Amino acid sequence: MKFYKPTSIPDLFRISEEIEGKKYFLAGGTDINVQIKNGIIKDEPVIFINHLNELKGIKESEDIILIGTLTTYKEIIESDLLRKVLPFFQNSLKSFASPILQTMATIGGNIANGSPTADVTPLLLVLDAKLKLFSKSRIREVKLSEFFTGYKEFILKANEIIGAILIPKNAETGFDTFFEKVGSRKSLTIAKLEIAGLKRLKNNKIEEIKIAAGALNEYPRRLHKLEEFLTGKDIDRIDFSQVEEILNREITPISDLRSDKEYRLQVSFNLIQSFILN
Ligand SMILES: Cc1cc2nc3c(=O)[nH]c(=O)nc-3n(C[C@H](O)[C@H](O)[C@H](O)COP(=O)(O)OP(=O)(O)OC[C@H]3O[C@@H](n4cnc5c(N)ncnc54)[C@H](O)[C@@H]3O)c2cc1C
Repeated sequence: MKFYKPTSIPDLFRISEEIEGKKYFLAGGTDINVQIKNGIIKDEPVIFINHLNELKGIKESEDIILIGTLTTYKEIIESDLLRKVLPFFQNSLKSFASPILQTMATIGGNIANGSPTADVTPLLLVLDAKLKLFSKSRIREVKLSEFFTGYKEFILKANEIIGAILIPKNAETGFDTFFEKVGSRKSLTIAKLEIAGLKRLKNNKIEEIKIAAGALNEYPRRLHKLEEFLTGKDIDRIDFSQVEEILNREITPISDLRSDKEYRLQVSFNLIQSFILN
């Protein structure tokens, strides 16, 4: 197995373009190292990116919070800027893995690993986040909701990386917030399912609602049909049997070693009901 350590971002793209076929970018290494150990990654080249300072840090502009792809969970959890501007986002990530993992795992690696169980993705989806994708000759912005195309599949091109995550500064403002990660235990756990939500009520009616599910489809996604059904409804008059029916059409949970399909359906319905009513 070959490892490369670029000296700069242009050098990273030079190396990447010289390598034909599949390659990996080592950010925090918390997923890659497990995959190497388990023989999932065998001979594919690995390019270290974790020392490239241009890809680190949290910055603000007038309307946007920009989180560099290599920003770690520890940095996110401890950021004064996020505590002030996006406290729901920050607090929700405190349940990520364990304190040691939080010092290594990066936000960009969590998204690019493409796991349906990634903690950050449902949160970023309800916050209408975008990704900044970097390649040798251009930077493009895409909505996170348009990034995934299938199980561990996304629109990232061969020599393109996630450079940064962009979140509107007012994304949480005026909303009731909800995030539940259900796992076998509190820490060091991969989610059985996750629900993130934002809702805004006016005169007891749902004026706006955003719900995203993790680990319930082949990739995390917004539940747009359910959002449409709920918008405008008086929360005391919602027919929850219809909510359950729509939910069961919008999610396609699997049975695996963590839990079965029926459990995932029932718990996700219970969480969504509790989010709507509380
Ligand atoms: C014990 C343990 C507990 C865990 N707990 C959780 C948990 O609670 N919640 C959770 O969501 N995850 C968890 N994980 C998974 C993992 O820690 C996260 O997915 C982490 O954020 C991955 O980031 P990384 O920087 O370590 O990625 P890496 O391992 O460095 O890379 C992961 C993948 O992303 C690609 N990649 C990395 N950065 C980029 C980039 N900028 N552009 C393009 N591709 C890129 C790599 O090529 C690779 O395929 C856990 C893992 C372990 C081992």
